[in-house]
Amino acid sequence: MSRTEISSRDGLNRSRGVATEELRRHNLATVLEHIHLSGPTSRSELAASTGLNRSTIADLIGELGGLGLVEEGPGMAASGPGRPSPVVRTRPQGAAVLAIELSVDSIAVATVGLGGLVYDQFREPRPRGRFSPQETVQDVAKLAEPLLAALPASHVLAGVGAGVTGLTRRSDGFVHLAPNLGWRNVPLGAMLATELGLTGQVDVANEADLGALAEYRRGVGSGVGHLIYISGEAGIGAGIIQDGKPMLGSTGYAGEAGHTLINPGGHKCRCGAVGCWESEAGEAALARHAGIPVTFAGLGVLDTVLTRANAGDRRTLVAISEVGRWLGLGIGNLINVFNPELVVLGGFYHALFPFLEAAVIEGSRLRALDAPGKVARIASSDLGSDAPLIGAAELAFSGVIADPAGAAGHSVRIQPSVEGKSGG
Ligand SMILES: [Zn+2]
Repeated sequence: MSRTEISSRDGLNRSRGVATEELRRHNLATVLEHIHLSGPTSRSELAASTGLNRSTIADLIGELGGLGLVEEGPGMAASGPGRPSPVVRTRPQGAAVLAIELSVDSIAVATVGLGGLVYDQFREPRPRGRFSPQETVQDVAKLAEPLLAALPASHVLAGVGAGVTGLTRRSDGFVHLAPNLGWRNVPLGAMLATELGLTGQVDVANEADLGALAEYRRGVGSGVGHLIYISGEAGIGAGIIQDGKPMLGSTGYAGEAGHTLINPGGHKCRCGAVGCWESEAGEAALARHAGIPVTFAGLGVLDTVLTRANAGDRRTLVAISEVGRWLGLGIGNLINVFNPELVVLGGFYHALFPFLEAAVIEGSRLRALDAPGKVARIASSDLGSDAPLIGAAELAFSGVIADPAGAAGHSVRIQPSVEGKSGG
């Protein structure tokens, strides 16, 4: 055998080894993701839904168990005769995450265990546009600290995810522009990591992208591969899931649908342009049509509109319809471009959905072409105002799910010792 033959065979074996390792990582990720999203599952259900054979499943469950991420236990009693088959479930404390949401009117934090077990969550309303990035990350740390301290002693903090209403670069959590927070060029990911005392990085994403992720993984869009989530806050954002994957653009800025032109003769937008979708269908437009002073900006607009709408106030109902029509026109544009199966309305559109559904559908029919219009359903969010927070948790889980063997057991934060806790 010549030298070249030996070395090429070596190379072949090495690449086979790499391929086998990649396949195993992929299979581990598939099984863990299934249990994380579907809850307790029997081995035979896992085999059926993943297409892997039972001995491979047994092997993978053994490895995930060894990593502290899943455990097996008795299942629910079956309706037929015989003993219930055992089920595999996640060990929530095996990979817990901290989720953060920075919205225009509030900040929220939650601690969530693998499998989606919410240990604790807290939302603090805040007046609009009054807080610097530094004050905000300090407030986040103050809210998060008691939640982190209350996690089970044995937990691993596997990640921290944060959603923010602004143009965000995914790779390092840099916020270029958050007009409704009044922020520009903020290294938010790095600031949060420092303030929270993390050894790992914070995954930061746009809140509409996280709303889309949450609805796709745990909400009204479960398993719907082509989905658009529209968030109505102070502005309008869109999060797009295409073929089961988030569509983020080259750097994470995709989905700024709120600043697409919809009415050249329209109103001035906070971005500086005229006639943006959000200046015609956003909160400011709603206040304008309903005759609510701009000084009400914030929670006041939605609360006032809801109260008046529930009381049957005619002007308010007309205002909601007008906003709904503009919203629908913009959705029709998105339907033509992206051909979604489902458009989910979140943020304040979720709260107003019963009042604006008909106008939204009518508006979207006016714009959408027949064929894509027929397949696109428009629905209200399942998760309501918590969608971006749930999405932030899912984002934080993504590292451990993508590579369970590589990520399990690694905490992104050095935990205070138990002695230290009891002494303080
Ligand atoms: Zn704009």
